[in-house]
Amino acid sequence: MKAIVVSQSGGPEVLQFSDVPDPTITHSDLLVKVAAAGINYIDTYQRSGVYAMTLPYTPGLEGAGTVLEVGSDVTGFAVGDTVAWTSNLGSYAEVVALDASKAVRAPSGIELTQAAQAMLQGITAQYLITSVFEVKPGTTALVHAAAGGVGLLLCQMITARGGTVIGTVSTEAKATAAGAAGAAHVIRYDQEDFMPRVRELTGGIGVDVVYDGVGASTFDGSLRSLKPRGMMALFGQASGAVGPFDPQILNSLGSLVLTRPSLTNFIQTSEELQWRASEVFAAMLSGDLTMTLGGSYPLAEAAQAHQDLEARKSSGKLILIP
Ligand code: NDP
Repeated sequence: MKAIVVSQSGGPEVLQFSDVPDPTITHSDLLVKVAAAGINYIDTYQRSGVYAMTLPYTPGLEGAGTVLEVGSDVTGFAVGDTVAWTSNLGSYAEVVALDASKAVRAPSGIELTQAAQAMLQGITAQYLITSVFEVKPGTTALVHAAAGGVGLLLCQMITARGGTVIGTVSTEAKATAAGAAGAAHVIRYDQEDFMPRVRELTGGIGVDVVYDGVGASTFDGSLRSLKPRGMMALFGQASGAVGPFDPQILNSLGSLVLTRPSLTNFIQTSEELQWRASEVFAAMLSGDLTMTLGGSYPLAEAAQAHQDLEARKSSGKLILIP
C-alpha cells in the first residue's frame, strides 16, 4: 500500500510518499481502509523532532474509514462498519491498524471526510471547555489562533454555551472566519499588542480563561490578560515552546491558575472517548458545530499540507485523502 513514511526528523520534505507492506493487526485491533486522515499541528512537532519519535514511522493520529478486518478479541465492531479515531499513529496511509479502544462509530448523517475532521481537534475543544475550564453563560474567553483548526471549534463551542470569545488572528481573512464562528471581538495580534486590547474590551478586568495553543509568542501577554484567579490553559506551542517560568508570577498577577493539558489525559478510557466524541458528533448533527475544511490534499502531498500549516496559511481543518 501507499503511506507516508518519516525516516529522519526534519522539515516537511521528510514526509516521503512510499510503498510499504500492508499493516497486520493484533487481537485487539481493527484493520481499516482510510477514507480521510486528519492533519494536526502535533504531526509537525513529531515530524520535526520537537516530540521524540521512534524512526521510521508513518505519521497521522486521526482519521475515518471502513473496517476491513476485526481482531479476535474485539467486540462491538464488524467488517464494513464505518469508524473514526484519534491518537492512533499511522493514519497517513491507505490502510491502518487501529487499536479498537481508540475507535468510535462514525454516525450515519456525517460523511467520513467530516468525521475525520472532528476527532482530534473536536474532542480537544470539547475537553477544554468542559473539563479544563467549564465555560458557562457569561464566561469571557481569549482564544488565540481563533481561525485555526481548534480555534474555530472553540469559538463555536464557547458561544453556544453563552460565553464571549475574544479571538486573535494574523490576517483579515482569518478575522472574518473567526467572527463567522462566533468570536465577538477579533484582534490582529500580528499588528497590535493583544493584551491592552483585551483589557480595554473587558473594561480593565481581564478574561476568565485564555485558551493558548500558540505558546512562546503569546504566553506572557496571555497571563496578563486574565482577571484575578483566571485560568491559563496552555494547550500548544505553534510559535515555539514556552521558556522557564517563575511560579511567583502567578501570584503577582492575581492568584492565576496555569495548566498544560494534553488530549491523552482526557480520553483515558474508551468510555470517556465515546462520551466526548458523541458530544462533538451530536453538535455537528444538530447544526450547532460546523467543521471548516481549510484544505484537502492527496496523500502524496502531505509535505505541502505541512508546509501550508506551518506557514500559517491555513484556516480550519486540513485533511489527506489516500
Ligand atoms: P492551527 O490550525 O491552529 O494552526 C496553528 C495556528 O497557530 C496558525 O494557523 C497560526 O494562526 C497560529 N500561529 C501563531 N504563531 C505561529 C507560528 N509562529 N507558526 C505557526 N503558527 C502560528 O493548528 P491546530 O488546530 O492543529 O492546533 C492548534 C494548537 O493546539 C497547536 O499548538 C496544537 O499543538 C495544539 N493542540 C493541542 C492539543 C492538546 O490536547 N494539548 C490537541 C490539539 C491541538 P494565525 O496565523 O492566526 O496566528
